[in-house]
Amino acid sequence: MSIRFQALENLSNKKNVEVGSPNKTTSFFASNVFTVQVAREFLSDEAYKSLKASIKAGMKIDRNMASQIANGMRAWAETKGVTHFTHWFQPLTGTTAEKHDSFFTLKSDGTAIEEFDGAALIQQEPDASSFPSGGLRATFEARGYTAWDPSSPPFVIEIGNGKTLCIPTIFVSYTGESLDYKAPLLKATEALSKAATEVCHYFDKNVGKVNVTLGWEQEYFVIDEAFYNARPDLVMTGRTVFGSGSAKNQQLEDHYFGSIPERVYAYMRDFENESYKLGIPLRTRHNEVAPAQFECAPIFEEVSVAVDHNSLLMDVMDRVARRHNLRVLLHEKPFAGINGSGKHNNWSMATDTGVNLLAPGKTPKTNLMFLTFFVNTIKAVHDYADVLRASIASAPNDHRLGANEAPPAIISVFIGQYLSKVLTDVKERVTSKMDETDESLLKIDIHKSIPELLMDNTDRNRTSPFAFTGNKFEFRAVGSSANCANPMTVLNTIMAATLKQFKSEVDALIEKGEKKEIAIMHVIREYIVKSEKVLFEGDGYSEAWEKEAVKRGLPNVKTTPLALDAMVTKKAMALFEGNGIYSHQELEARHEIELEKYIKKVQIESRVMAELATSQVLPAAIRYQNTLANNVRGLKEAGLTEKSFKVHRELLEKISTHISKVSEAVEKMTEARKACNNMDNTRDKAIGYQTKVKDAFFDEIRYHVDKLELLVDDNEWSLPKYREMLFLR
Ligand code: ADP
Ligand code: MG
Repeated sequence: MSIRFQALENLSNKKNVEVGSPNKTTSFFASNVFTVQVAREFLSDEAYKSLKASIKAGMKIDRNMASQIANGMRAWAETKGVTHFTHWFQPLTGTTAEKHDSFFTLKSDGTAIEEFDGAALIQQEPDASSFPSGGLRATFEARGYTAWDPSSPPFVIEIGNGKTLCIPTIFVSYTGESLDYKAPLLKATEALSKAATEVCHYFDKNVGKVNVTLGWEQEYFVIDEAFYNARPDLVMTGRTVFGSGSAKNQQLEDHYFGSIPERVYAYMRDFENESYKLGIPLRTRHNEVAPAQFECAPIFEEVSVAVDHNSLLMDVMDRVARRHNLRVLLHEKPFAGINGSGKHNNWSMATDTGVNLLAPGKTPKTNLMFLTFFVNTIKAVHDYADVLRASIASAPNDHRLGANEAPPAIISVFIGQYLSKVLTDVKERVTSKMDETDESLLKIDIHKSIPELLMDNTDRNRTSPFAFTGNKFEFRAVGSSANCANPMTVLNTIMAATLKQFKSEVDALIEKGEKKEIAIMHVIREYIVKSEKVLFEGDGYSEAWEKEAVKRGLPNVKTTPLALDAMVTKKAMALFEGNGIYSHQELEARHEIELEKYIKKVQIESRVMAELATSQVLPAAIRYQNTLANNVRGLKEAGLTEKSFKVHRELLEKISTHISKVSEAVEKMTEARKACNNMDNTRDKAIGYQTKVKDAFFDEIRYHVDKLELLVDDNEWSLPKYREMLFLR
């Protein structure tokens, strides 16, 4: 029996894995996190104060204190049965990395003890050679190290009975270049905090710091593990490279907000409980539009912690799914013809005085502050749309962006009718002649009904890649498998750059003698005029918008190899170097790494396609072809007329055509891959893989394979079908 039929047969025997119902979430929330409260309990006054100071200032731990802190941390971890520790980091491969060391050690006299010294807490040297560095380590130093980032608290990961203390770290080379996603994010967040604080001082001198907030929404698919195992393409690439749509896809839209299937529900509760222990504040769960698709979202947090939590959640989801004999698919487009998955990044800024800078205010003064940050965001997205586009570019996201069910590759901003009107008012009413006597103009009427209106879903647009949703912007073009750090680094950097520019322009007007509020209004007006072409309220999935975007001169780069160009333009170099985020070399290195990732992904998909076609699809088709051929021959021999086996013959012809098309294309694709592999320049190679391998053959091969799936005897077909993977649990 084929693995597909075994999977089908076993499905009905699958029981829900029991998930205990713990007490209230609050009774175990963050129980596996070394929180500030835990630190208070396990550290000396001195060590505690030092740790708190480092957290507050975002600084490295004082070396003299490190051993005390490490001892306290070990004491706490041992109460939880922890035996090992690891530096946990987010390398550019896109997963997370750990290297476990035990507390256990032998002293020189042979005594066995448990130990965690300060040096091991604050710095480690993982074998960095296996992580991508885009040539950086070769050019500079051979080694890299991980260093504890105290702004993110240590936590305990439980895998079965094994428990490991994880120290969140950044990963850098000895000469200081970032080798991970986290270090640049911290720099960019700091840059934005500084620039935003200075702008806040126009309105409120008490603001000491601005925090960046992120609330992500994670979409994912869940399927039975046995089906997953019977699909080598899912195992190797995360998506199905073949598969004919089932008779019922999502036309009925009955899945969205429908009741959650029981097995998946048990899985959700289980991974939620694991997440709660790790301090991930998950809040919502629901079905998504596509069958077998779901979403979860936490309460928003400070951006670096939110990023860690999302990375951690993706690990937890994957691990817990296996306990339930399920598999979670985080790929952006696991199934063709069915909605893909995204990771909406809800982003805002909040002052240490507790004001959300993207929430409309209640007084004219707070409104002007809101308008300032709101318009600066639009300007930032307008000016750096290409860089923002590059930040979400990846091979899997190419399947989703612009696929008529996901935000297009054109970066535009949706702000809703009401705020559009406000911007128009500002544009029309603020004039160069405006002076203090016109101060009533400043009270542009946005505070009355705006919050209610914005919160109302009717004024929402779900087709925009970057939408204002009442008190935050939602960057929707981020892919479901992506690390949020990269898009957040870029968003924070472009916002920091724009706010700095804004401040210098306002200051220049003030110096010329304009009153502060008037000067701010003038610059805001200018920014609206300069960036309004990025605003779009209509249907972002429509063809009309693509045409309109061309007229407006907005970039629409559909493929990753080309989208990534924006990382290494003069403008990008000035942006990132000017704000201290990436050096010239770091940008070049990252560009190289992203291109290499793209090449590898397409290469693997192409290989898997060829292998599946040759070893599973064609043999099944040929077996069926034989059956049909024998049948026709038999009928003929029995003396029946042509007419009586006409249908069989036509079917035989169709199948034969598809068989030869598949095998020809597979052969040519393999040749094309070889040609690409001989290219030296990474960018050329990536473009080669995209145009000469992916675009030239993927759809073509898939078309014929999917036709065969519909023609060949179901009993012969070894790959689980869409209807099985998507509807059976
Ligand atoms: P939806 O977009 O699905 O309608 P919500 O608007 O309720 O859902 O919120 C979506 C996400 O936005 C949540 O993850 C939430 O934490 C996040 N969010 C809400 N306020 C902020 C904020 N000020 N900064 C960042 N994220 C926020
Ligand atoms: Mg949303």
